[in-house]
Amino acid sequence: MYSKKFLIKYAEIGIKGKNRYRFEDALCHQIKRKLKTLFGEFKVYKEQERIYVEVIDKNNDSYNEFSYNEIISSLKEVFGISSISPIYQFEKTNSIYDLASNILNYIENTFDEKNFTFKVHTKRLDKYYPLTSNEINCELGGVILDNYPNTKVDVHTPMVFFYVEIRNKINIYSENIKGLGGMPLGTNGKAMLLLSGGIDSPLAGYMIAKRGVKIDAIYFDAPPYTSDRAKQKVIDLAIILSKYTGAIPLNIINFTQIQLAIYDKCPHDELTIIMRRFMMKIAQKIAIENECLGLITGESIGQVASQTMHSLMATNEVCTIPVYRPLIGFDKQEIIEKAISIGTYETSIQPFEDCCTIFVAKHPVTKPSTKIIKRSEEMLNELNIDEMIQKAIDEKQVIWCK
Ligand code: ATP
Ligand code: MG
Repeated sequence: MYSKKFLIKYAEIGIKGKNRYRFEDALCHQIKRKLKTLFGEFKVYKEQERIYVEVIDKNNDSYNEFSYNEIISSLKEVFGISSISPIYQFEKTNSIYDLASNILNYIENTFDEKNFTFKVHTKRLDKYYPLTSNEINCELGGVILDNYPNTKVDVHTPMVFFYVEIRNKINIYSENIKGLGGMPLGTNGKAMLLLSGGIDSPLAGYMIAKRGVKIDAIYFDAPPYTSDRAKQKVIDLAIILSKYTGAIPLNIINFTQIQLAIYDKCPHDELTIIMRRFMMKIAQKIAIENECLGLITGESIGQVASQTMHSLMATNEVCTIPVYRPLIGFDKQEIIEKAISIGTYETSIQPFEDCCTIFVAKHPVTKPSTKIIKRSEEMLNELNIDEMIQKAIDEKQVIWCK
């Protein structure tokens, strides 16, 4: 039997009072959004500080293992859920006989082999319920032992927990399938992700989104120095991310003219830093126009010359809004493992040039001085760099990735 009802648990720390409602409503909204992509009808609702997902199966015949697995996989992509439990639910009863027959029914329909060690764990939300949690544990434990002689009680490390919850109705379940955790999307504003085709930036976007932040993205394209396939790779990455974040508007900026101007006018060992500063400036402008509260990058200290502490300071100098760098302390190997687990790695390692790799200096500065960099940038004024920037912004292309 595949359960048609799921109990959704979420981390409750720090979400009291008014915040709790906001959190729960946002989580229900995100769950509904996610389930909309599946076939079938669902009811998502709050009850007594719990969230439930219920399958509405009008014909009662279209629901099967595939639908069940699809629901679980989808819920496992929703931020804010700490665990998912398929439940068996029935009307409240004071009779221990009814409880017993329901738990036997549950076991009969859920377990093929009835030869496990177990523990019954009861929680009463209804404190006026005539039986105490302990009485229910003992009674139901006895009934299970009587009916399935190959089972055994193990209160320390049981193979199966039977959770019994006495609420408005009664829930029985034995699985807590781990969710992603974090906060529901939309509980924490929006930020602009600088998304390149690499391994780092998609993960950076994921990590900030996991804190409830909606994501807009921006990609700096440099045709013909970068190919359409490199651009497509970034779009593909945004589509993978959108499984978690919902549709992402990807701003694509043609950066070629600006990059060539920098290449022409500025010392080559400073190219990357100056380029990064212009990327940040443009990203920030579009971010502010779109009510984003910060920028996100995949930078990590010391990963490359443009990410030493000195370089980060020089890059950061152009920013007036916060820049979130969630990978700042990670090693590449840790980043790779995480990127694999969120499903972006395979796409990131496809071998298409992104705009940075073409214009890299052989010996980039690792300790740039902001003062010197700014002086170098003055050389760009004669090319009307501000107009170039405005033109690049005006001509941006926006693709909704989902
Ligand atoms: P990634 O972070 O995607 O793995 P990378 O490590 O090659 O790429 P760098 O060139 O070191 O990235 O740039 C650091 C950060 O700057 C990236 O994490 C990304 O946030 C941003 N960035 C770099 N190139 C681009 C680009 N072409 N478009 C948008 N953002 C970019
Ligand atoms: Mg990187």
